[in-house]
Amino acid sequence: LLQLSAPLFLLGMMYREVKQALTNMERLFGLLDERQDVQDSPDAGPLVATRPSVRFEAVRFGYDPRRQILHDVDFEIPAGGTVAVVGHSGSGKSTLARLLYRFYDVDGGAILIDGRDIRRLTQASLRGTIAIVPQDTVLFNDSIFYNIRYGRPEASREEVEAAARAAHIHAFIRSLPDGYDTQVGERGLKLSGGEKQRVAIARAILKNPGILIFDEATSALDSQSERAIQAELEHIQRGRTTLVIAHRLSTVMNADQILVMDGGRIVERGSHDDLLARDGHYARMWQLQQREAERAG
Ligand code: ADP
Ligand code: MG
Repeated sequence: LLQLSAPLFLLGMMYREVKQALTNMERLFGLLDERQDVQDSPDAGPLVATRPSVRFEAVRFGYDPRRQILHDVDFEIPAGGTVAVVGHSGSGKSTLARLLYRFYDVDGGAILIDGRDIRRLTQASLRGTIAIVPQDTVLFNDSIFYNIRYGRPEASREEVEAAARAAHIHAFIRSLPDGYDTQVGERGLKLSGGEKQRVAIARAILKNPGILIFDEATSALDSQSERAIQAELEHIQRGRTTLVIAHRLSTVMNADQILVMDGGRIVERGSHDDLLARDGHYARMWQLQQREAERAG
């Protein structure tokens, strides 16, 4: 019995290890490939534009066919331009980001990049062209170096550090006993929400993509850190086609166009000044946030 139990014990341990690893993979692929049925069509070709435009054309979508989430969403981000999306939680903002990255296919209408329907692009080229800084970043159980370099696996050490500097996380990493070799994730150092967001920002900077999506990318940072990093974000946005989903309106004031979403529809659109003058949803959100900012000092 004793002879048997040692290997069994080891097997049990291995099983737990493997299961943990699989869980992490599932999580990761949950993020990268939420639905397996999104596949390359036989006539899919690569996206080659370095500075593509993005267009949503009468996009309709629901996660469940019985519940439509997006209703005829129409907008365009010109090549190199920035469009910001604001609106209450649940209004469908992150869904726009997920559809552009093609985690899901639209139910009606189309999404075009550089004039081409994304269903006719290879997934590899589509996802190679887009960097997302998501609301919740998943870290791999690996070194912090690996986690940043994931943005562009062939990047050099210097390039990884430069990206970390731009994302204001280099000094923090250097202060850790193991520096860039520090293990992070579930089985390593647990980073705070703000630190994870900075890792995601560093990844995106390193990826150097044609299209950037920031989905409340700085929501876990306090407003002082957010201001500090805002300049960097504006810098990497320059010349790139960018979709910014924002919770703090102060971060979208300079967008070429701001879309206000409500119940899966775009209910207002225009520049910051246009929208204030209109005295509608946006103006009310703006006044509310100004008052909150004053109260917070
Ligand atoms: P926002 O980013 O504006 O807060 P989302 O785009 O995340 O809103 O969500 C829009 C709506 O879609 C919400 O009602 C939400 O409950 C629903 N939703 C989001 N993700 C899923 C999902 N994976 N499955 C089913 N419903 C979802
Ligand atoms: Mg969201």
